[in-house]
Amino acid sequence: MAIIVCREKCTGCGICVEQCPFGAIEIVDETAVILDACTLCGACVEVCEFAALEMEEGEPVAPAVDLSAYRGVWVFAEQRKGKISTVVQELLNEGRKLADRLDTHLSAVLLGHDISNRASWLIAHGADRVYVFDDPILADFNGDAYATVLADLIEKEKPEIVLTGATAIGRSFIPRVAARIGTGLTADCTGLDVDPEKRELLQTRPAFGGNILATILCPNHRPQMATVRHKVFKPAPEEAGRKGEVIPVVMNGTVAGLQGEVVKTVEEIEDTVNITEADIIVSGGRGVGSKENFAVIEGLAKVLGGAVGASRGAVDAEWISYSHQVGQTGKTVCPKLYIACGISGAVQHLAGMQSSDVIVAINKDPEAPIFQAATYGIVGDLFEVVPMMTRAFQKKI
Ligand SMILES: Cc1cc2nc3c(=O)[nH]c(=O)nc-3n(C[C@H](O)[C@H](O)[C@H](O)COP(=O)(O)OP(=O)(O)OC[C@H]3O[C@@H](n4cnc5c(N)ncnc54)[C@H](O)[C@@H]3O)c2cc1C
Repeated sequence: MAIIVCREKCTGCGICVEQCPFGAIEIVDETAVILDACTLCGACVEVCEFAALEMEEGEPVAPAVDLSAYRGVWVFAEQRKGKISTVVQELLNEGRKLADRLDTHLSAVLLGHDISNRASWLIAHGADRVYVFDDPILADFNGDAYATVLADLIEKEKPEIVLTGATAIGRSFIPRVAARIGTGLTADCTGLDVDPEKRELLQTRPAFGGNILATILCPNHRPQMATVRHKVFKPAPEEAGRKGEVIPVVMNGTVAGLQGEVVKTVEEIEDTVNITEADIIVSGGRGVGSKENFAVIEGLAKVLGGAVGASRGAVDAEWISYSHQVGQTGKTVCPKLYIACGISGAVQHLAGMQSSDVIVAINKDPEAPIFQAATYGIVGDLFEVVPMMTRAFQKKI
């Protein structure tokens, strides 16, 4: 593929230069010239008013593997000390829908030690099959061991889709799996769908700093692998008595080739409610003005039994720690109630909270973009509005 410039049509207007996110176009002698930095994103083709730029399709690339040999949707069932991560329940819900549309089975892969009893929970939440590899070597998370076991299993069983949570564990080992089996991986998806005819997974994720949503395909390699953030999808409902198959995984010999050793596992101690689990979040932005002023936000969060969130503006100003940051480079949250105080509503912030059930925005600027995303908007000074709300809820609760 290549971008072709039609010299007769090009006027050298320079709009394509402005729009190219990669700085890959120059105007030379009143004609656009495509530079080596071009990634073929096609943004220039869309903006050219003179139809002077065209995407030249190359010869179709032949699939690297026999696509028809790959069937089934897999969910990696991340667990710590036997507790299945909440993102798994969300992946089972979405994986079930994808498997049904492809008329195939949904499987979960459970790795760890003394975890076999968790298989029935996975079946009750939508899995048709659960592959279980129960071994003392996996008692603690070990990226090398996890990658070896999962890559071997994928090569043997050939699923067409593998979904993993975009958690610390998922992010650290799943790229190694994709590299070992020679396929692609789309990280941090916010939407998944399938084309049932081509059996292609449509993997949507924010790109270019969250300014566009890109849908990514993996047409010539299998499996199609994606990581998905916590709280992007709704959790799968439990279906008591649901039947499924538990398949013990047997490795040939021991898990070989380990380079890393787990020396110690240290648990993070959270002094407040974890924002990814909270039903109510009260968040403060740069409008809060100082570290001390966050007491106003904390006061409302406390009376509502909620957690304190923050914009990156507030985190960068060091008024609150990064673990509270909501957004594209922070946490994705989906509470029942999200109260945004003194937050302008940049796309990167919205990316982390816009699927909240009810959003209340408090901002003194009536033009602030947060009001576009809000269910209820209060135009006013947060230092008047928030204490008023705190007092009102104190009386009610
Ligand atoms: C690659 C990238 C990733 C990013 N990731 C994130 C992310 O994960 N999360 C995130 O939040 N941002 C992220 N950002 C930053 C984002 O673009 C914004 O800069 C940031 O969200 C702004 O924070 P803010 O809304 O608190 O501050 P501002 O944009 O400065 O807004 C402050 C708001 O407070 C209002 N205000 C001021 N005083 C008061 C008052 N007394 N009462 C009521 N309202 C008041 C103002 O009207 C204004 O709307 C990212 C940016 C980039 C480029």
